[in-house]
Amino acid sequence: MEIRATDLKQFVFCPRYIYFTYVQPVPKVPTLKMIQGRVEHIEHQNKERRRGLRSYNLVEGARHFHYPVYAERLGLRGKVDLVIETKSSSGQRYFPIECKNTNRGIRNNIVYQLVAYALALEEMTNSPVHLGYIYLLPEKKAYPIPITQARKQHVKRMITMIRHIVENEYFPEPRSRARCATCELQRYCNDLDTSSTWNEKQKFFEEFNELWNGRCSRMKQEGTTIDTEARS
Ligand code: SF4
Repeated sequence: MEIRATDLKQFVFCPRYIYFTYVQPVPKVPTLKMIQGRVEHIEHQNKERRRGLRSYNLVEGARHFHYPVYAERLGLRGKVDLVIETKSSSGQRYFPIECKNTNRGIRNNIVYQLVAYALALEEMTNSPVHLGYIYLLPEKKAYPIPITQARKQHVKRMITMIRHIVENEYFPEPRSRARCATCELQRYCNDLDTSSTWNEKQKFFEEFNELWNGRCSRMKQEGTTIDTEARS
């Protein structure tokens, strides 16, 4: 069974997410915040193409957006927001970079997603990855993240735990009930169907359309393009 790097992020947030993804799949309704994040992401990518590499402490390198990675030995697949490939003959050649639209700082779930990408890159390229970056969109800042042996081992253990949930159809306990309030799966876990009324659905689509149309026309004015390729 193949695991996606995003599964690790979800597993850290709540193991039940895995159950509702693989064992008993349910439709997931993205929250407004998630859609907003995708739009911000597209804007950032267009700006990123024009920037230098100083944020990543690099002097040269080719950018690869939405870079697909696959680690056959780990059964791990994903698509990295950005991989910078340098010509370095001795040090690290490939740097994975994940962009996140969050004001809550760098949390473990994002870090382990990045480490999963690093592991996959290492296996694919046969070259070591000791450092990656998380770029926080609200701060417009790239944070270096050491890809340590301990973190790599932890990701491997999490892959085993995810497989255990799926193969044994195990319904795990929530990581923390405090997280349910912002979770798109709350209607399945808590009997809280907060978005099921027509009025709320209507409000959601109105807000989404407003957000999307506003961003698109602004980007058009700025002369940027919209890359609609889906993120993993
Ligand atoms: S609603 Fe709560 S228990 Fe259910 S998947 Fe989300 S965070 Fe976990």
